[in-house]
Amino acid sequence: MIKICIASNNKNKIKQFGEIFSKKDIEVVLMTAKDTGMGEFPPENGNTFYGNSLIKAKALYAHVSSVDGLRDSYIVADDSGICVDALGGAPGIRSARFSGDNATDADNNKLLLEKLKGVENRAAHYSCAVTVITPKGRIMCAGGRVDGRVIDEPRGFDGFGYDPFFYVDSQKKTFAELSPDVRNSISHRGRALGRAVDLIVEDAGSGD
Ligand code: IMP
Repeated sequence: MIKICIASNNKNKIKQFGEIFSKKDIEVVLMTAKDTGMGEFPPENGNTFYGNSLIKAKALYAHVSSVDGLRDSYIVADDSGICVDALGGAPGIRSARFSGDNATDADNNKLLLEKLKGVENRAAHYSCAVTVITPKGRIMCAGGRVDGRVIDEPRGFDGFGYDPFFYVDSQKKTFAELSPDVRNSISHRGRALGRAVDLIVEDAGSGD
């Protein structure tokens, strides 16, 4: 049994983590940051997705190191966002707060469409960086990406964030129209976490 503490309290992400881990042939106990008693995370002031995932992972690692029964846990943190070619990669690491500190998904999508008004090149990708910290403090990273384009009218009701506007040509659907299984099999987070799980399983079996 592998214990994994997720450095997030975002319920959409946690749901996806659960779905992705449940498809793997390993027995895991998943705990959210809240389950571990972790309070506030430090500000995400890194310059990259990796930088921010490392900040979250280190904070949770420091916390669980002082909690009996959790010191043998693997810490997993992700940072992700949408990068739009015509906007020079923005919003990128600012995806969650694109239109302000307390922005809702609706606010962010509205601003994105305003910025893309009249712009022909709609190419975009979701990117995700995952940092794993092993119980012995070894730091490992994995990344994933999925390409798509931003459309003007929302489609679909599943998913979160920019999903109703993120259209994937190979699926002929937006992320909000895909089933969780299909979405997780092609998504930036599914790919990055799939790689992270392989690293965890290898580490857990190494006896180092
Ligand atoms: P994070 O919690 O700092 O990683 O913020 C990620 C933000 O990027 C989210 O709040 C969404 O706005 C956006 N985002 C990242 N991944 C996804 C996704 O899979 N679907 C929709 N939006 C996403």
